[in-house]
Amino acid sequence: MNNIVRIAIDGPAGAGKSTIAKIVAKDLGIDYIDTGAMYRAIALKLIRTGTDYNDGAALAAMLDATEVDFSDGHVLLDGEPAEGFIRTPEVSEMASASSAVLAIREKLVALQRAMGQRKSIVMDGRDIGTNVLKDAECKIYLDASPRVRAQRRALELQQKGMQVSIDQIEEEIRARDYRDMHREHNPLAKADDAVFVDSSDMTIEQVVETLKAIIREKANE
Ligand code: C5P
Repeated sequence: MNNIVRIAIDGPAGAGKSTIAKIVAKDLGIDYIDTGAMYRAIALKLIRTGTDYNDGAALAAMLDATEVDFSDGHVLLDGEPAEGFIRTPEVSEMASASSAVLAIREKLVALQRAMGQRKSIVMDGRDIGTNVLKDAECKIYLDASPRVRAQRRALELQQKGMQVSIDQIEEEIRARDYRDMHREHNPLAKADDAVFVDSSDMTIEQVVETLKAIIREKANE
């Protein structure tokens, strides 16, 4: 790709965004930013430091003393790789709840905008097409049914040796969807100019090919 193409991929939890975004970025030879990992890193810090995100002063002090960055596609919390700690159900819950807090969003959105400046990039999250990179050249909204998303998440956790109930995961996914879609600041929504893709009955390869076709079309526009 000769032109700068910023690809915004939004959608609910478990729709396959990060798996797909990672492959697409690698195939295109451009950087991938997983914004959910940034909210998870902040959630991890909240848990580790015992900070109450409803306590404005304590939260501001914690955020001031916290660095979130990416190196080689891996999220860093205060300079240390955080990936190994941020995919637990506890961190998922904390990230879902704390990402509604304006001070947290302001800090991370500013970082994300800086990362998406003047270069081709794939960025995934909930508010990339509607807020972070409103002027992205290519926007995709990736969805799948709650049951399919719960099955995918259950498989991921089982592969890490965790005991899980699909019904419980589906319930949690529905609750997180509701929170993401109904929060006051930057709720999850499809941007008007985003292409909607339902991955429920598609393989990873099929979704990757579908997205690459959409990106090629946008890049040529
Ligand atoms: O995508 P992932 O599940 O890793 O995101 C973790 C949490 O971060 C989500 O539950 C969502 O509430 C929040 N998030 C967000 N905005 C983004 C990305 C994630 O609010 N751009």
